[in-house]
Amino acid sequence: MMEQIWPPAVEFDADLHRQIAATRADILARIASAAQGAGREPQSIRLTAVSKTQVPARIAAALAAGQRIFGENRVQEAITRWRGTRESLPDLHLRLIGPLQSNKLAEAMALFDAIETLDRPKLARLIADSALKTGRMPEIFVQINIGEEVQKAGIPPGEADAFIAACRGEYGLNIAGLMAIPPVDSAPIPFFVRLREIAARNGIEHLSMGMSGDFETAIACGATLVRVGSGLFGTRV
Ligand SMILES: *Cc1c(COP(=O)(O)O)cnc(C)c1O
Repeated sequence: MMEQIWPPAVEFDADLHRQIAATRADILARIASAAQGAGREPQSIRLTAVSKTQVPARIAAALAAGQRIFGENRVQEAITRWRGTRESLPDLHLRLIGPLQSNKLAEAMALFDAIETLDRPKLARLIADSALKTGRMPEIFVQINIGEEVQKAGIPPGEADAFIAACRGEYGLNIAGLMAIPPVDSAPIPFFVRLREIAARNGIEHLSMGMSGDFETAIACGATLVRVGSGLFGTRV
């Protein structure tokens, strides 16, 4: 039987729990079959449930279904939602997938298990300094502006190698992965492939790419983390 484990203030909604559990099982099955189709181990791909702006009842249902990896795009919203929940959820794993301002850095470093949006030298320096001071170092991913769009954050693909080298050499950071959001209106495959190539030539293991509409394609192109929001929780409020 499913049991609600978080948060205590939300009324248990059995239908919502069943619905989100079924949707999650379907997504995990699709991840597994996309992996197999690409000759990869299903366990080599992690599902990040993008919980930004979702109501607590839906997140509670995902937790009850066994989901533990969550992605947030705002530091403050993530703090409000998750601070203090680790005592009852020791295996909770929180990933920052949105912009990180320097004035939120200390809080982000304390809360998140992974920061996927390292996109400038100053941030690399602040992350390194903070880790030295606190002893806590999340997994660090570099965000690449893979479609070179003016409105998007991220290091331009042509500057990626130099930036990654600087992160490692000047700041001593371990770059665990790359993250990108391809342009909305184009077929994503060339962008996924380009991200994989940057990772491969820089010896980087993880690729966070693919969202609700294209995670199977991303897995075929090498994604090791897919970020699914609306496809799991329903439309954002
Ligand atoms: C919102 C968001 C997602 C999830 O998008 P869906 O289309 O709802 O799956 C994934 N990645 C990032 C960076 C996001 O901001």
